[in-house]
Amino acid sequence: MRPLIIPFFIPHAGCPHTCLFCNQHMISGAQQSVPSARQISETVQQWLGRSPNRAAEVAFYGGSFTLLPRKQQEQLLEAVQPLLEQQKIRNIRISTRPDALDEAVLAFLAGHKVTTIEVGVQSLDDLVLLQSNRGHTAADSMAAIQRVRSAGFQVGAQLLPGLPGDTRAKALASVQGVIAAGAQFVRIYPAVVLSGTALADQYRAGHYQPPDLAQGVKNCARMLHLCLQAGIPVIRIGLQAEEGLSAEGAILAGCWHPALGQLVKAQLYHDLVLTLAEHFKSFDGLQLACPPDRLSEVQGHARSNLQRWQQAGLPVDRILTDPGLNHDQICLQNLQQKSIGSIITTDIYKESLNAQGITGFSGKAAGRPQPLWL
Ligand code: SF4
Repeated sequence: MRPLIIPFFIPHAGCPHTCLFCNQHMISGAQQSVPSARQISETVQQWLGRSPNRAAEVAFYGGSFTLLPRKQQEQLLEAVQPLLEQQKIRNIRISTRPDALDEAVLAFLAGHKVTTIEVGVQSLDDLVLLQSNRGHTAADSMAAIQRVRSAGFQVGAQLLPGLPGDTRAKALASVQGVIAAGAQFVRIYPAVVLSGTALADQYRAGHYQPPDLAQGVKNCARMLHLCLQAGIPVIRIGLQAEEGLSAEGAILAGCWHPALGQLVKAQLYHDLVLTLAEHFKSFDGLQLACPPDRLSEVQGHARSNLQRWQQAGLPVDRILTDPGLNHDQICLQNLQQKSIGSIITTDIYKESLNAQGITGFSGKAAGRPQPLWL
């Protein structure tokens, strides 16, 4: 069972500046910047009361934890220590910037029993980082991940594909880079234009167009596939559907859906079926089977994959379930041929890294630059 993560949002706390795309108050719905020790204790008790049998972690998200004044970091971490001693909480995790994770910081965190560090990487392309006003380089992120891993922490990477200057090739290279550096899990937050950000100003001025939902889903499916191939869990795709995000005018554009992760997995299965079908001489009597617990992902939202396969000339009108298949497998067959494929081991997106050059935006169309995500 996955651990229960009890999140405490510290929106923008510690951040040396505000990045182009960021509005943590809207993302988290939290207005207060840092919780008190009492609030931490009470909130943990409430969460544990609802899920008494799950291993629990306390997480500090939404800011740059290690750039808070040291005293404040101590207060937050010390508020959790009694909960650790009573074994109500197993771990502490924090998220922070890659340029705020030197050896001394790591020693301090280890001394306060922090076990997991999520590094805000966003992209491993220096131009994308520069245009997003991140204030650090790709090399900073690679070094931070390596340092955190070497110091014995669990380390994760947060990626944000689709920012200004980004391309699919750059996003895929970023996935490969963080895995090579030692990231043990990944979160993917495709770009959305949040009101109240500098990115919103660029969007309104017609200087930036993020990948839309369909483009973003296709891109995330490729990123997910790379992680699956490397055995790296993707623990989140897309921003949580907080109240602030649902408000009218909160999201101006971009790849957002309350069940984005499901759409991305459905895309992966959609693409896997097309890959398997390439080797079929005839589509007569075609049948598709999947493990029972994967049926909704293989069908897609509102059975959309069935319609899309039909439109692509693949006559799949129903999906059978086969408990004999592994969790990652599907089986496409007719009387003449049978092909078993896997969302992990089948090479679904051949040469995906070479498919697009690292060339940034392709130029203007209808007054806006169009991203290279299709
Ligand atoms: S992206 Fe991270 S570092 Fe940048 S403003 Fe948001 S929370 Fe702070």
